[in-house]
Amino acid sequence: ALSSQWVRDWVARSAQHISDNRTELIRLDREIGDGDHGENMDRGFKAVSAKVGELPADASPSDVLKTVATTLISTVGGASGPLYGTAFLKASQAVKDHAELDSAAVVDMLRAARDGIVSRGKAEVGDKTMVDAWSPAVQAAEDALAQEATEQQVLAAAADAAKAGSEKTDPLIARKGRASYLGERAIGHRDPGSVSSALLLMAAAEVSA
Ligand code: ADP
Ligand code: MG
Ligand code: MG
Repeated sequence: ALSSQWVRDWVARSAQHISDNRTELIRLDREIGDGDHGENMDRGFKAVSAKVGELPADASPSDVLKTVATTLISTVGGASGPLYGTAFLKASQAVKDHAELDSAAVVDMLRAARDGIVSRGKAEVGDKTMVDAWSPAVQAAEDALAQEATEQQVLAAAADAAKAGSEKTDPLIARKGRASYLGERAIGHRDPGSVSSALLLMAAAEVSA
């Protein structure tokens, strides 16, 4: 099962991937938004890394996830800050009583994160948002759990599905967020929030291996 050290490693790897993809996320958000997504996320995850580093050694997975949530809410801003903040807050609540996360807890955590994003932002699959990464990820994680997958296999399935879901946003018209103002001009561009979501889920899978 995955320990709170896994959550810490997830944070560190996420910060690395977001930093490495900062320019790409900015480029994508310039096409169909206001160009700040890479900067918002990089600032947020650098702050998250610092805050998580200050936590006591015995912080639980839920404690670490809660620190991620509150830090993202206070540092990211824009549409994505409250959405990711809610995701990590709900994830934290979902694993409240767990010292370690087994496959079922990992799925509960991912589902809670996705449900938090949906309840906060009211987007559905196909609206060209981060939900297009998270919903197939949760579905794939649930399917893997039903096949008695390990935590690592659950996370790998989620990460692959998130990436595929993000790629499927290219031909869509956006129905939520800034990109929705563009109508058909959003067609042919990938949703930046779905890309950052896929990066976070890829990080989660990588550090569980
Ligand atoms: P802003 O649009 O305020 O500048 P960001 O650029 O940081 O914020 O984030 C934009 C991303 O937020 C979009 O690419 C999309 O994935 C996501 N997003 C925006 N609105 C919603 C929503 N209502 N539900 C889910 N995701 C959303
Ligand atoms: Mg933006
Ligand atoms: Mg903005």
